[in-house]
Amino acid sequence: MAVFYVDGEFLPAEKAVIPVDDLAVLRGIGVFDLLRTYSGRPMFLKEHVQRLIDSARQIDLDLPWSHAHICRTALETLSRNNFDEANIRIIVTGGSSPDFMTPQGNPRLLVLVTPLPKLPAEWYDKGVKVVTVRAERRMPGAKSLDYLAAAMALRQSKAQGAVEAVYVDRHDHALEGTTSNLFAVIDNRLITPGRGILSGITRQVVLDIAGGLMPIEIRDLPLTELRTAQEVFITGTNKGLMPVVQMDDTPIGDGRPGRFTLRIMEALQARFTRSLTLSD
Ligand code: PMP
Repeated sequence: MAVFYVDGEFLPAEKAVIPVDDLAVLRGIGVFDLLRTYSGRPMFLKEHVQRLIDSARQIDLDLPWSHAHICRTALETLSRNNFDEANIRIIVTGGSSPDFMTPQGNPRLLVLVTPLPKLPAEWYDKGVKVVTVRAERRMPGAKSLDYLAAAMALRQSKAQGAVEAVYVDRHDHALEGTTSNLFAVIDNRLITPGRGILSGITRQVVLDIAGGLMPIEIRDLPLTELRTAQEVFITGTNKGLMPVVQMDDTPIGDGRPGRFTLRIMEALQARFTRSLTLSD
């Protein structure tokens, strides 16, 4: 049975609750971040907690905790659980509010540790299909609790046999997936959008790695250009790096994971393994 941290207490998952007057329940006000373990150790904990703090600042939520306190709480919650590999979800809610609207400077900190979902090996070996959906996140740089657009887009994506939906904005630029960042290989260069997106931790690691392998362009990515890319892949904490071989009805490249994708995938794997030797 999982143990969660809820606003000062460690509780069995089924007893982990928050009051109904919390602004997260009433108005969807709050932020979160999600990381995973690798060989039982949290990956990029400091970076994820920093992004959580940045997200809170962007939605005007004052946090009474230090970066170090949030890291310690996440580690303590992890140590009270016993999964081979885990997701660690750190959530900051808006807190209770008498007028049901205005944050009162009393946010709640929650840490949910759950088993890491196992994704099919085939998705990596053969690549996946993604669909495109028209959507723009209002505050793309913040990981707010509002994932309504994501949940609806993913329903569409599943119905069409795809594993992810890619947001396309009003200018017909492809932005990112519902929980992943987007990369394309065009003219042997690696392209990834730089605005209208969440700055993914995995994206940053991929950019670091790929910098040594090929030219990189961080720029807008028109959907028409994306559809004709040599290679496409998506990145995220739980997906890692996943080759995309079909977008809506259009095959990407020759319909198989491309050579740049495979090289970056291999280097990313090596980087994750190496990170285990750097203590967080
Ligand atoms: N974009 C969005 C909207 C996301 O929710 C996520 C998942 N956190 C990502 C991109 C990928 O970010 P990361 O690599 O840090 O998981």
